[in-house]
Amino acid sequence: MTDKMVFFPDGRGVEAIGQGTWYMGERNSDIASEIRALQAGLDMGLTLIDTAEMYADGGAEAVVGKAIAQRRDEVFLVSKVYPQNAGGKQAVTACENSLRRLQTDHIDLYLLHWRGSIPLEQTVEAMQQLQLAGKIKRWGVSNLDISDMEELVSFDAGRQCMTDQVLYHLASRGIEYDLLPWCLERQIPIMAYCPLAQAGKLRNGLMESPVVQQVARENNITVAQVLLAWVIRHQGVIAIPKAGTVAHVQENAAALTVRLSPEHLEALDRAFPAPKRKTHLDIV
Ligand code: NDP
Repeated sequence: MTDKMVFFPDGRGVEAIGQGTWYMGERNSDIASEIRALQAGLDMGLTLIDTAEMYADGGAEAVVGKAIAQRRDEVFLVSKVYPQNAGGKQAVTACENSLRRLQTDHIDLYLLHWRGSIPLEQTVEAMQQLQLAGKIKRWGVSNLDISDMEELVSFDAGRQCMTDQVLYHLASRGIEYDLLPWCLERQIPIMAYCPLAQAGKLRNGLMESPVVQQVARENNITVAQVLLAWVIRHQGVIAIPKAGTVAHVQENAAALTVRLSPEHLEALDRAFPAPKRKTHLDIV
């Protein structure tokens, strides 16, 4: 356990770095190494695993299921439901299908993947039913901007939301203007997806940025570790990098103990300024 634990509103704590799984389970030839990477992450304390019914059409959940089969109790399992399944009987079917692929009887945190046409109130009702049935322990949302979050907490049951999972990395800081402080004031942790900007694919030049590279050099760490330490510098933010190799997982886990100095944070701020006005929520 590090001092970088993040706590959900119901008191459950997790390390501030977890493991993403998008693109896992796509190719049979990669599955064994994906399982090894996830298990190595568990060994190093990265116990939150984030997946979704969408990823590889259930294939990523199946990989996770195999990785955790003998060690379910160590894992804080997060999965997501498609918006079109996030209500009524379809939600039960979607959740049961996820549970089957994940080889478990419960999901620790079940998220609405993004907002669709089903009213939020109906989604929350479905989440409560799943919770009552013991199929999920808690629920949250993903890709909801502040106006959607305000709508969500405008009804009682909506205030049981445990997280908003959104895109956040050094070169995409829009949430710092409003959504991030709004959530943190209410003790709702943010789960930062694409914390490595997909290894720079989402922002050309991020990994090669001279400032980021200098900060890495001066701390004797890698660029990926700079990006992760930067994301989790806020108390209440969990980064969920996806790593397909044990070497990458090791690097990511070690970022839990990296503390960037105020001077380095300022240098990163100058190169990648915080937003000065409202911007649309970035998504992939
Ligand atoms: P990330 O920013 O996590 O980047 C993943 C890429 O970074 C992979 O190519 C990986 O390569 C590489 N990588 C991992 N560790 C290192 C390292 N130490 N050094 C160099 N490269 C590294 O992007 P994702 O899109 O995967 O986002 C993370 C997770 O967030 C997803 O997997 C998913 O679980 C979740 N997500 C949620 C969304 C939502 O709508 N709610 C949307 C998008 C993502 P390799 O595989 O070779 O290790």
